[in-house]
Amino acid sequence: MSIQIFGLPVSRGVAIGRAVLVASSRIDVAHYFVEAAAVPAEVERLRRARDTVAAELEQLQSAMPADAPPELSALLDVHLMLLHDDALAQPIRQWIRERHYNAEWALSAQLEVLARQFDEMEDEYLRERKADLEQLVERLLSALAREARGAGQGAGTPAALARDFGGEDPLVLVSSDIAPADLLQFKRSVFTGFVTDVGGRTSHTAIVARSMDIPAVVGARAASRVIRQDDWLVIDGDAGAVIVNPSPIVLEEYRFRQRQIELERARLHRLRHTPAVTLDGEAVELLANIELPADAPAALASGAVGVGLYRSEFLFLNRDGDLPGEDEQYEAYRAVVEAMDGLPVTIRTVDIGADKPLERLSAQELRHEHGLNPALGLRAIRWSLAEPAMFRQQVRAILRAAAHGKVRMLVPMVMHPRELRQTRELVERARQQLDEAGRAHHRVELGAMIEVPAAALTLPALLPEVDFVSLGTNDLIQYTLAIDRADERVSDLYDPWHPAVLRLVADVIAAARSAGKPVCVCGEMAGDPAFTGLLLAMGLRSFSMHPAQIAAIKQHVLRADTARLAARLSASLAAPDPLHAWTTA
Ligand code: PEP
Ligand code: MG
Repeated sequence: MSIQIFGLPVSRGVAIGRAVLVASSRIDVAHYFVEAAAVPAEVERLRRARDTVAAELEQLQSAMPADAPPELSALLDVHLMLLHDDALAQPIRQWIRERHYNAEWALSAQLEVLARQFDEMEDEYLRERKADLEQLVERLLSALAREARGAGQGAGTPAALARDFGGEDPLVLVSSDIAPADLLQFKRSVFTGFVTDVGGRTSHTAIVARSMDIPAVVGARAASRVIRQDDWLVIDGDAGAVIVNPSPIVLEEYRFRQRQIELERARLHRLRHTPAVTLDGEAVELLANIELPADAPAALASGAVGVGLYRSEFLFLNRDGDLPGEDEQYEAYRAVVEAMDGLPVTIRTVDIGADKPLERLSAQELRHEHGLNPALGLRAIRWSLAEPAMFRQQVRAILRAAAHGKVRMLVPMVMHPRELRQTRELVERARQQLDEAGRAHHRVELGAMIEVPAAALTLPALLPEVDFVSLGTNDLIQYTLAIDRADERVSDLYDPWHPAVLRLVADVIAAARSAGKPVCVCGEMAGDPAFTGLLLAMGLRSFSMHPAQIAAIKQHVLRADTARLAARLSASLAAPDPLHAWTTA
């Protein structure tokens, strides 16, 4: 039966593929694909685990004291019977052979299939046999874990899923939640789309999905419980819908849309070398947001004229507290600078905290395990200034990378001029240290991210401290409206069109321009065509976004007349419903 699940559309397009459920069973096991050549060995691992468990159960049987309750022995009989039942073993082997799942994943996938069948049974006695099955699977998993520990294996993270997969059907990832850093590991991996139960439109998981340019739906609440392993799924990234086991007609309709989207992309791609100039001759700078050095070639290929936001913190995540040293950072930054081939690169200093904690925690775990609100805590520049040794290493790495091309340094979550002065002092000290060590380095321009209302409201006090500013609208919206950007339960209140948000954005752009300081928008608003005209009307001439969005925004720029747009601005900003006013004016 086909069903539809609705969530939030976060990354556009259509993906069609088989569902791969991660960590959906109550037993947390490693999920990874085994290489084709290793499939027989994986089946053999499973057989060995079965033999081990059979021996354990037989041993328990024979050691059973004579006065033990007869039910106990009967229970072991049931477990042994299940263990030798090919109806259990055969499909598990099939998951391994056909889908290349590791043995643990195959076991938990089949447990899930059978558990649902048990749940649907009328007979209470049979329904209760589910517990036996779960116990048996746990025994098997623990036998596999013991063996894996002995063999030194330990693929336990979703990241391991990014390994090559030799299967034929495209795959769609379904999970309750995915941490941004884990999702990043899926870049250039086998998944053609993904669905999560939790998350908001500008959560970092959604942002990484957009940067991967794969259709995605987040905040789909029950998705990971409703969808079963291997179901066929259509992800409609425009509508925020997931269609489970679509009918042939629906599937054909979506395949048609997929082809249309491809044609449209190819058409837009032809604009990549066209300069972004409006109809009335205003030049507009379209820059790229990147998360990893490996993203730089895509940025260049998209026609971006530089990197407007390099989220350096992704280098710091998922390392169990082992932070990257100066040299490692320098190599990463230099790789980006060199890949951009003379174009400017804006490196944002680490923005650790909120939904990007150093430890591997998903947003849901953060919510449940940390009662405090991490978005208001020791995040971004606050954390950097609290860890001066770490911060100096990063600054030295950035200054050294600047010897290879044009580099700008951007400070996240600035709230007070003092933070910028402290950063400048730290940059000075780092420069002296590099001089003393005889290391090549170069000056960098310093910029502030304006993403806290306090900074937007007191911009004139900040401007003398910086060479440029960049509006982080994702956080500016979160902090202005008091809406956690990662929380799907309040996502309908996360409103970029709120008059308070638009007023702050317009005022920041105007104040920076009148002070002669370059201003950019690097939040998701910059890559959303719905805002291109409005931001141009506000006087913005520099936009930074995911490489995949550049062509579409350029098309809007090429068709815009900034003078005519500007004439519509003040009435729209003053209206109680700016979205309605702007779109109907
Ligand atoms: C923003 O807040 O708009 C921004 C660009 O930074 P991030 O999304 O990484 O917080
Ligand atoms: Mg931000």
